[in-house]
Amino acid sequence: MWPDAGPGGIIYLDYNATAPLRPEALDAMLPYLRSVGNASSAHAFGRQASAGVDTARRQISELVGCAPGEVVFTSGATEANNLALRTALALDGGIITTAVEHPAVLSAARALTAEHSRSLTVIDVDAHGLVDIARLEHAVSAGHTAVVSVMAANNETGVLADLEPIIEICRQRDVLVHTDATQMVGKLPIDLSRLDVDLLSLSAHKFGGPQGVGALFIRRSAGVPHQPLLHGGGQERGWRAGTLNVAGIVGAGAAAKAAMEALPQEAARVRDLRDRLDAQLLRDILGAKINGHPGRRLPNVSNILFRGAPADAVLAGMPMVAASDGSACSAGAPGPSHVLTAMGLSRDEAASSVRFSLGHTTTQADVDRAAAFVVEAVTQVRQSLERGPHAVMV
Ligand code: PMP
Repeated sequence: MWPDAGPGGIIYLDYNATAPLRPEALDAMLPYLRSVGNASSAHAFGRQASAGVDTARRQISELVGCAPGEVVFTSGATEANNLALRTALALDGGIITTAVEHPAVLSAARALTAEHSRSLTVIDVDAHGLVDIARLEHAVSAGHTAVVSVMAANNETGVLADLEPIIEICRQRDVLVHTDATQMVGKLPIDLSRLDVDLLSLSAHKFGGPQGVGALFIRRSAGVPHQPLLHGGGQERGWRAGTLNVAGIVGAGAAAKAAMEALPQEAARVRDLRDRLDAQLLRDILGAKINGHPGRRLPNVSNILFRGAPADAVLAGMPMVAASDGSACSAGAPGPSHVLTAMGLSRDEAASSVRFSLGHTTTQADVDRAAAFVVEAVTQVRQSLERGPHAVMV
């Protein structure tokens, strides 16, 4: 049976893993799930499906401030990231990215550069999780760099990259710039008419759309080489072959519209709740410390180090709270988070950090109940460990 997430049930604080479907998305999808229609068919059913996709494309483009014709629908941000990097490698040069990227960029960059015999440069971050701009500037060079890929907001810490100087460096050297904005889209405003990246990835399930739908923004004026990942029919202007996931795309569009209408009230409300959670945990748990930049981070997430309390034991000790230890098989290798260790945390510290991520359904009661469970779990784990390493009861 599905766990109860209602009042008094399990408190869902794992929005960065996936967010609950917004009711607007579900309502928009249902007629498309109940009907037939391939968006490429010329008959009335196909035209109806294709009209739904057109609306969604416009809604997504409005959420990020681009033209509808610059949106290519994909199966999610993983595919969008792979497509962005793959297409850039049609140009000369290698990939430059950062040590804190999601595996959907880091693993893809490793595999694609190996396959194409290109260089891969991974730029370090500082203790706050911010990219070392001087090193990046030193590494980027016209002709030798095909693309620079820097995530807009980190999925584990919420740290927001300073993209402007990075874009400037790429512009000066005529190098493509991609950002994985999966965690930022729908949570903070993004305006691609000002943010001059060439490629941007997003995923619907992070802002209340269905899972399995994402998009890659490809700036029309950037002259990005046409190098699709999938070959087949000419869907998505030849960028992404395959029958469109019409209902999913319609849901993504409806979620984009709802998320955009709710911004910025939702961001402010969620930030207040996140700050309330932080305040309670930092007050009641000795030595608790926020990982990442205290100011430059998404409003909905907090990654907190509970020294001396392994996160897997803490999570197991609070079954009423659905949060994450951020170490879930990153890049296929179980172990402490590559994001936190790149920021200078020891393996033990990284393995004693928990990510709480909030969103549109989170309430003050959720936060207060969760804080009490977390305090109790951390206290219990610490006490068990003090009694001996084998005494942890989880
Ligand atoms: N990039 C980031 C920053 C993410 O957080 C995620 C999802 N965890 C992805 C990419 C992959 O997205 P998707 O699930 O849509 O493939």
